[in-house]
Amino acid sequence: MLERAQRLLKKYYGYTAFREGQAKIISGILQGHDTVGIMPTGGGKSICYQIPALLLPGTTLVVSPLISLMKDQVDALNSLGIAAAYINSSLSLAEVRERISAAGRGEYKLLYVAPERLESEQFRSLLNSLQVPLLAVDEAHCISQWGHDFRPSYLAIAQLLQGLGQRPQLAAFTATATGDVTRDIINQLSLRDPAVHVTGFDRENLHFAVVRGEDKRDYLLNFLRQNKDLPGIIYAATRKEVDSLYEWLGKKRFSAGRYHAGLSDAERALSQEGFLYDDIRIMVATNAFGMGIDKSNVRFVIHYNMPKNMEAYYQEAGRAGRDGEPGRCILLFSPQDILIQKFLIEQTILSPERKRSEYKKLQVMSDYCHTPRCLRKFILAYFGEETPAEECGNCGTCQDQSELVDITLEAQKIFSCMLRLREQFGITMVAEVLKGSNNKKVLQFGYNRLPTYGIMREYTVKAISDLMKVLAAEGYIRLTEGQYPVAKLQPKAAAVLKGEARVWQKVRKPAQEEVGDNTLFELLRGLRKEISQQEKVPPYVVFPDSTLRQMCERLPADEQELLTISGVGEEKLRRYGSRFLQVILAFVKESGPMAPIRFHH
Ligand code: ADP
Ligand code: ZN
Repeated sequence: MLERAQRLLKKYYGYTAFREGQAKIISGILQGHDTVGIMPTGGGKSICYQIPALLLPGTTLVVSPLISLMKDQVDALNSLGIAAAYINSSLSLAEVRERISAAGRGEYKLLYVAPERLESEQFRSLLNSLQVPLLAVDEAHCISQWGHDFRPSYLAIAQLLQGLGQRPQLAAFTATATGDVTRDIINQLSLRDPAVHVTGFDRENLHFAVVRGEDKRDYLLNFLRQNKDLPGIIYAATRKEVDSLYEWLGKKRFSAGRYHAGLSDAERALSQEGFLYDDIRIMVATNAFGMGIDKSNVRFVIHYNMPKNMEAYYQEAGRAGRDGEPGRCILLFSPQDILIQKFLIEQTILSPERKRSEYKKLQVMSDYCHTPRCLRKFILAYFGEETPAEECGNCGTCQDQSELVDITLEAQKIFSCMLRLREQFGITMVAEVLKGSNNKKVLQFGYNRLPTYGIMREYTVKAISDLMKVLAAEGYIRLTEGQYPVAKLQPKAAAVLKGEARVWQKVRKPAQEEVGDNTLFELLRGLRKEISQQEKVPPYVVFPDSTLRQMCERLPADEQELLTISGVGEEKLRRYGSRFLQVILAFVKESGPMAPIRFHH
């Protein structure tokens, strides 16, 4: 049975092998077991029910939580040459009827429906006329109150099952692995003797890093400039923060969009679309952005604030590199983030029990931000996975090349100056005095007569301010709330002033610029964009980045060779093969005989 599945994998998707977990799940489903598939984001869940759907008679029903997600999935299936459709509130009743009857005629192998639909009696009776061998529940954690995305409408799935003449086989999928959620899924869906498959949570292509004690905006600016052209997501904790980052990025002339629940539907749809179609490079968003995003070529996910727990973090960060190509997951931490999350927990109406559980999870999240251990091992251990004895060699901790620099003297100068100024001013004023600047306010108050005036003359005002922000991040200084934050000393600073404690700062060695000739890749990307516009599907639906990369590395000369590239199936070959070959051949001809291009990851 799995052999037939494998042939379909190559024929339609252009992939040569199932991933480990996929093979197990698909065999199980084909043997008739109710199934729970727990896989990290990007693990390849969709194929786990799509391939069985191709092998089973009738129409597989897929419950999916979001309209945009459904449309994406159906577009992607159609572009692979697989007949699929969706039914949701974006359609008129006439269209719904039409699709149902088309399904009745056996025209679709897969039919995607929104859970809200299932609450309608009328819809359920329509479904009774269909042959439904398999019901796949996507994002199944939405059925659980313990999950982070509880959707009451998911409870309607159980009603649907009771109403159907013949109970289909069930397969539920999620990226949330906790026991509570899994138990809830099994109970709420009344799964029969289910096979629960938890596949490896490790995402080898993702690089994890935590950045502490650095000015977040400076870090961002540097990162975005060093990684030109790469699409990515920046998550922030609040709408306000999203808006302010978005405006700031605009001023810095980056191509950015924003997404949060405070924007109109139209605005959100527009920026989401822009991002999917590679028109907008950077998406600044709250956690409202994401569950519906199938974009596979997200190359980085930066958390501007620490999220509320590891589940949320891993799911959001996991949106990088779904195509298996390298992705960077960077968390910018400051102690302030903990306060924000505590505030958000207090704001939500939760039972005391749930609140305790949220606080516990927040503590683990904060531990992640401070651990000196391998970050990947920390993550895998958290999700209950046996971790390899060795460090991963591919995370911020494992690759830490920073040096510790003693900044005790600088810290003492800053703290004394703050005391002299009676802790009445913000960072800039303190820095101006230390620098010994002749600024009007400094002279007016007579601060040029203070003993700390000009004792850090060799630094720029910006450098002194940055040092103060580092000291704030490390808890020596507290910045008050409000528009003009005042710098206050924290108890921790006293020991430093007395010379009883030293202060260290991590200084990162400058990152190496990526090398590699991207000319052909850019040409192929251009062609992909052109096709995407013609066919009105996102570029990554035409081909993922990984497929373009392989084309650059292997320089296929004819259709046969093109077909051996991962991601090129028969339908894609038929539709786009000759156009891509043309670009590759022209490039090879122009640049002469040469070694294939290697990318440095
Ligand atoms: P999930 O829903 O689990 O987040 P997807 O189903 O969207 O993940 O798959 C993530 C990416 O991995 C997609 O681009 C998909 O085409 C790709 N993929 C899935 N299975 C395979 C496979 N066996 N070989 C290569 N790529 C795969
Ligand atoms: Zn590591």
